Amino acid sequence: MKIYSYGKQHLEFDDYIEVLKTLKSPFLTCGPKVKEFENAICDYTGAKYCVAVNSATSGLHIAMLAAGVGVGDEVITTPITFLSSANCARFVGADVKFADIIPETANIDPDEIKKHITSKTKAVVPVHFAGQSCDMEAINEILPKDRKIFVIEDAAHAIGSDYKDTKVGSCKYSDMTVFSFHPVKTITTGEGGAVTTNNEELYKKLLAYRSHGMHHTEDWKYDMIELGLNYRITDIQAALGVSQIRKLDKFKKRRREIVDFYNKNLKLPHLIEKEFSNACFHLYPVLVENREKFYHDARKVGLNLQVHYIPVHTQPYYRQFGYNWGDYPNAENYYKKCISLPLYPDLTNKDLQIIIKRLSTVL
Ligand SMILES: *Cc1c(COP(=O)(O)O)cnc(C)c1O
Repeated sequence: MKIYSYGKQHLEFDDYIEVLKTLKSPFLTCGPKVKEFENAICDYTGAKYCVAVNSATSGLHIAMLAAGVGVGDEVITTPITFLSSANCARFVGADVKFADIIPETANIDPDEIKKHITSKTKAVVPVHFAGQSCDMEAINEILPKDRKIFVIEDAAHAIGSDYKDTKVGSCKYSDMTVFSFHPVKTITTGEGGAVTTNNEELYKKLLAYRSHGMHHTEDWKYDMIELGLNYRITDIQAALGVSQIRKLDKFKKRRREIVDFYNKNLKLPHLIEKEFSNACFHLYPVLVENREKFYHDARKVGLNLQVHYIPVHTQPYYRQFGYNWGDYPNAENYYKKCISLPLYPDLTNKDLQIIIKRLSTVL
C-alpha cells in the first residue's frame, strides 16, 4: 500500500547537479552560492535585502535581535503556529502575548492583536497560516501611530504567496519577513531559512547577528560589536535553494490545483481563501468531528496525516506564565478538529483519487 503523508519535498535531477557542483567548488560555506540564493529571494519577493540562515527559527531569533527586542518587552503572536513564532521572543528575554485567530482562515485576528497591545509591546509576529497571508493592511492599521512596533512576518508556510499586489516577503507591510526551507515546506535546502527586509540598518544587523557580531575592517582585522551567533547556511544548502526557487511557481500551480480538487471533492469544512490572497498553499487542513479516531483510522489506510497545531499557549513551558486551556477559544476549537491532508506537488490526479477513496472509508 502506498503511504501518503501530509507533506513531502520535490527534488529533480538539476537539484542534485547544483549540489554536486558546489561540493566540487572551493567554497562549501561563506561562498558565492549564499549570495546567489539571497539575490534569487530578493528577485522573487521584491525585497531589497535578504539574509539566508540555517533555519527559520534562527531567522526569527536574529530578527528579534535586529529589532532590539529584549527583557521587559512584549511580543504578540498567534497560538496556532509552530513553537518558534513564540519562542523567538523568549530567546531574547521578552514576554509572549497571544492573540486569538479568525476561524475561517486560522490567521491571527487584527482586532485581537489590538486588545493585547500595551506600552511594552515591541513586536508583532503574524504567521501566514497554511500559506495564506494575514491581512497585513488591517494589522498595520490597528498599530499605534505614535511609536514604533516592529512587524515581523513568520512566512515559514508562505514563500510563493501573494498578498494584494505584493509577494509575501516584499516587506511592503512589515519590517522583516522570515522563511523556512525545511523539507516539509514549499521549497527546501534540507534545513534553512531567510530573512528579507527593505531597511538597510536592519539588514546590517541581521548580517552581523548571523555571524558572531563580527564586522570586518581591513585585512585580517575585525571588530565584534554585537553578541552574534553562528546561524550561517552552507553553500551546499544554498545551491539547492537556488535550484528549488526556480521551481516555485510550478509548485504553486500544482499546490493550488490540489487545493481546488479537495475543495470540490470533499464535503469537509476547510479554510476560506480571502479576496486579498493568492496563496501558495503549504497545508490543507480540514475540520473533522472525532479527530483522534480519524487520525488513527486514516493511518490504517495509509494516510499519515498531521495536526497543525497544538495551541502554543497550552504547552507546559508557556503555562508557567499563567496561560491555560480556555484562554483562546477560537484557536482551541480549531485545534480540536483540525487535521492536515496530503498536499505536495508530487501528488498525481490518480493519487488524489486514491486519497479521496481512502478518506471516504474513514469518514
Ligand atoms: C516550520 C516553521 C518554523 C520553523 O522553521 P525551521 O526552519 O524548522 O526553524 C517557524 N514557524 C512556522 C510557522 C513554521 O511552520
